[in-house]
Amino acid sequence: MTPSDAAGLKALDRDHYLHPFTDFKALGDEGSRLITAADGIYIEDDGGRRFLDAMAGLWCVNLGYGRQELVDAASRQLQQLPYYNSFFKTTNPPAAELAETLCGLAPDHINRVFFTGSGSEANDTALRMVRRYWALEGQPEKQWIIGRDNAYHGSTVAGMSLGGMAPMQAQGGPCVPGITHIRQPYWFDEGRDMSPEAFGKVCADALEARIQALGPDKVAAFIAEPVQGAGGAIIPPESYWPAIKEVLSRHDILLVVDEVICGFGRLGEWFGSVHYDLAPDLMSVAKGLSSGYLPIGGVLVGDRVARTLIDDGGEFHHGFTYSGHPTCAAVALENLRLMAAEGVVEQVRRVTGPYLAKHWKALERHPLIGEARSLGLIGALEIVADKAAGTHFDKTLKAGETCREICFEFGLVMRSVGDTMIISPPLVITEAQIDELIALATAALDETARRLQARGATISATKETPT
Ligand SMILES: *Cc1c(COP(=O)(O)O)cnc(C)c1O
Repeated sequence: MTPSDAAGLKALDRDHYLHPFTDFKALGDEGSRLITAADGIYIEDDGGRRFLDAMAGLWCVNLGYGRQELVDAASRQLQQLPYYNSFFKTTNPPAAELAETLCGLAPDHINRVFFTGSGSEANDTALRMVRRYWALEGQPEKQWIIGRDNAYHGSTVAGMSLGGMAPMQAQGGPCVPGITHIRQPYWFDEGRDMSPEAFGKVCADALEARIQALGPDKVAAFIAEPVQGAGGAIIPPESYWPAIKEVLSRHDILLVVDEVICGFGRLGEWFGSVHYDLAPDLMSVAKGLSSGYLPIGGVLVGDRVARTLIDDGGEFHHGFTYSGHPTCAAVALENLRLMAAEGVVEQVRRVTGPYLAKHWKALERHPLIGEARSLGLIGALEIVADKAAGTHFDKTLKAGETCREICFEFGLVMRSVGDTMIISPPLVITEAQIDELIALATAALDETARRLQARGATISATKETPT
């Protein structure tokens, strides 16, 4: 692409394109990055600069870019039957096959799926399903859904209501009624005055307390990600999920697990629910389902809820034009076939996940890093001003944002959530590429430390070096 072509496109973008999660005015002033090509785990901009995409696009390009098999699957289906709907007692071959394949991968008690176009629509669907379920069970007063602070469940009105992101809820409300949030299991930021084990139980106690406050017979469901992604790659203490499960089952409250990021291998199992043994009633999926090549999502429905919706429900007045979209389903099906054939999930569990864990953890030796955590192929770095105290820099220094911009300068895409740097690379990343990722991240952290010091920040790196 010539520089003048690129400049022309950036002008069109500035004048007409309102980007998601963006300060429109600031982007207009600064201009956008123009990404024009990609291959494997690398993306390329208009100037031909390559970046190691440690975010897999937006947590989704799990098989990496440039997979001809996915292109071919889309192309074949576009020629055969590009689109047809699933309303009015119709179906299409890829949607039916994908439904069966997904249920085959899911835990045994999950045998039905409702397709959507996205993760947000999946969570909207889950919300409607759980309330419908309790109404059909003769307990219509079981309405409350409990989510968690700082959770992300999408950006539709129901998605942002289920999520716990304060800046989102401050705009375009009021939120959907009957949704409340408890504290998140974010040990590094909120629990370091106790052991992770104790903190996990404190978080489950918060669930118990909220249920008691609402009345156990008024609570329909709890919704959570196995590991919070957009919130900052927050890996709960080992004690957390068993304690949460115990509370939910004691009060007969449904568990909705948002698998939009953790599903399809991210944690080294087909679902995060398998890693943590969650036995969810419903699971929302999207993103990695098609490796992001085409938009598709869904809700996997466990037998308990499915039986009631099917046997007692009559018509479920809900669905989307693109539910079971044949071309999206064909790509998802091929994506899952390739993942199974290439043993991608086992590779994450046995090889690349442990390899990343070992080398990522070593970044805790860096003067800026208070904690380096990972599970499977999701990871986070906590940038701190004071290693011993684990305190972050003053917000005005914008340490995380600075680091993210430096990563781009160095040829690495790493995301910042406040002063937490996060990665979620394509699941096909090799050990050698993990070495490259870590070398780039280390160089970026060194440069971040230099720039923060140049701005007058003090860095107190007195904590003992872990061995
Ligand atoms: C991305 C995401 C969603 C929303 O998915 P969309 O396809 O963007 O609507 C929901 N939940 C989680 C955990 C996500 O990461």
